[in-house]
Amino acid sequence: MTSAGRFAPSPSGELHVGNLRTAMLAWLFARSTGRDFLMRVEDLDRARAGAEEVQLRDLEAVGVTWDGVVVRQTDRAGFYNAAIERLTAAGLTYECFCTRREIQEAPSAPHAPQGAYPGTCRNFSTAEREIRRASRPAAIRLRSETHEWTVDDRLHGPYTGAVDDFVLRRNDGVTAYNLAVVVDDGQQGVDQVVRGDDLLSSAPRQAYLASLLGLPVPEYAHVPLVLNRDGARLAKRDGAVTLGDLAAVGLSAGEVRDMILESLGLPGVPLGDALDSFDPARLPRKPWVWNGHHQSTLRKGA
Ligand code: GLU
Repeated sequence: MTSAGRFAPSPSGELHVGNLRTAMLAWLFARSTGRDFLMRVEDLDRARAGAEEVQLRDLEAVGVTWDGVVVRQTDRAGFYNAAIERLTAAGLTYECFCTRREIQEAPSAPHAPQGAYPGTCRNFSTAEREIRRASRPAAIRLRSETHEWTVDDRLHGPYTGAVDDFVLRRNDGVTAYNLAVVVDDGQQGVDQVVRGDDLLSSAPRQAYLASLLGLPVPEYAHVPLVLNRDGARLAKRDGAVTLGDLAAVGLSAGEVRDMILESLGLPGVPLGDALDSFDPARLPRKPWVWNGHHQSTLRKGA
């Protein structure tokens, strides 16, 4: 099986400089270690018509290339269903009929981590389950046998996080992100996961699930996000943050790529040429603050 890294965008809109920076880092990590680089569109949820095309075009414009065809999660229901069936056969799932409100209002289980599913539906009898089934479609949850799990992260070191009975399939039938990502990474031979550090707290759940499915746990590197001037995660509303917006204020894709590389302590050059200078040990550990228009004016005046 191949050894690969990947980028897995959700096609919910245009990518902003933070997303592009994460993609470039994932590419640099993969290519500098001789790995393939895969592109997977996570379109199970929040997909917007036309977004995928623009995202892929913008990724190519900053030098992020990929091997093989683009994979879409909506084409992969068979893999997700098979994984849920295997877990179910092993007694590791259960049906959950709770509404969001019921979950919020239920007393939390003793020793359970904050925000964990309180276990309301975990031990229903067959008769109770049948009554509930008549009133509401069930979500499928993992019957977790642990409260926490530890992963090793290239930038964060050992990281221990909560594992609860998280959802594998939502009650509208949509496969949940945590299940899809684990099945896809395992099935596609992804052994290196580089993504924003907002997802670090999901890694223990995913690594635990991989271990239950007999899949190898990938190497993780959760990279710092890009923040706006107020210290919040960069978002579309923060002004000119996509390649399209930035082109309108006079910055080419190459110039944006160079700014991103420089923010990483790398030379502003075509992405492939930055490989020689790329050293994970020397990456900034702090978020990059995007100063918006100010930054683009400075750059143009330079
Ligand atoms: N699709 C997720 C996102 O765009 C990324 C998932 C992942 O990299 O594991 O936030």
